[in-house]
Amino acid sequence: MINDEVSTMDNCIFCKIVAGQIPSAKVYEDHETFAFLDIAPANKGHCLVVPKKHMATVEEAAPEALAAMMRAAKKVARAISSAQGNTAYNIVVNNGREAGQIVFHLHLHVIPRYADDELVIDWERAKRRAKYASGEIEQVRLAIGKFL
Ligand code: 5GP
Ligand code: ZN
Repeated sequence: MINDEVSTMDNCIFCKIVAGQIPSAKVYEDHETFAFLDIAPANKGHCLVVPKKHMATVEEAAPEALAAMMRAAKKVARAISSAQGNTAYNIVVNNGREAGQIVFHLHLHVIPRYADDELVIDWERAKRRAKYASGEIEQVRLAIGKFL
């Protein structure tokens, strides 16, 4: 795909990276996706996989675009693992401001993980705070189920 065919959004840093207007450490590219090293990695080798077409969030993405991103993320994850010797990794989407999204061009984080790394996703503390009261899990199930 030539750069002219990539839809871009003014002032989107990841669109500029995809178009080659600002430099990046590219690791992979295919027809729909582009992957590069995160400039501020959680572990060395941390990559970002983005759709070439601008979309801000998962809501704006067609299922096919999400599939293409996950297909690319799996390839990239396998390559990171082969290069760095890790056997584990996180694939993460921060979707929306409260979820930690800072760059509003959809992206998958692929982060290699090691036994002794200091990367902490503190589920345990959150789980103690978010506990269901008696019977509440069924209310939540029904409330969500109305929209599915
Ligand atoms: P978010 O918090 O939106 O999920 O993650 C955005 C990520 O993009 C961050 O991890 C940040 O380090 C990375 N990032 C932001 N600007 C740039 C950039 O110009 N180049 C690269 N390679 N990564 C960037
Ligand atoms: Zn963009």
